[in-house]
Amino acid sequence: MSYDPSNIFAKILAGELPCHTVYEDDVALVMMDIFPQSRGHTLVIPKAASRNLLDADPAALSAVMPLVQRVAVALKSVTGADGLRLAQFNEAPAGQTVFHLHFHLIPVYDGAELGA
Ligand code: 5GP
Repeated sequence: MSYDPSNIFAKILAGELPCHTVYEDDVALVMMDIFPQSRGHTLVIPKAASRNLLDADPAALSAVMPLVQRVAVALKSVTGADGLRLAQFNEAPAGQTVFHLHFHLIPVYDGAELGA
């Protein structure tokens, strides 16, 4: 499977579609998920073009993982969550729906999915 530059996240990164940006630098865009699995569900989207983990440039992964960690620490603190899930899916059978590499950070509130 190859990278399709017309995917939704590529359009968001190009500024062609709106999003709720939390943070942005040269490496990645951090935004809120439009259909959150819990309060504070956040996505870290590397700017380097890859379909998912399977075709990602190792250098791009090295560049983005410290940011994933920083967002995780900040998100747990800001939301008061009891725990935090890091999720990342590769190909449709595994649950991937947007085919540009991204990392989900999903706060968990004492086992409650939405943490209202
Ligand atoms: P995947 O299943 O590919 O790992 O997750 C894609 C995620 O992107 C889903 O959680 C979905 O809610 C989110 N998403 C899809 N389209 C948009 C969009 O246009 N904006 C934002 N902010 N999130 C989106």
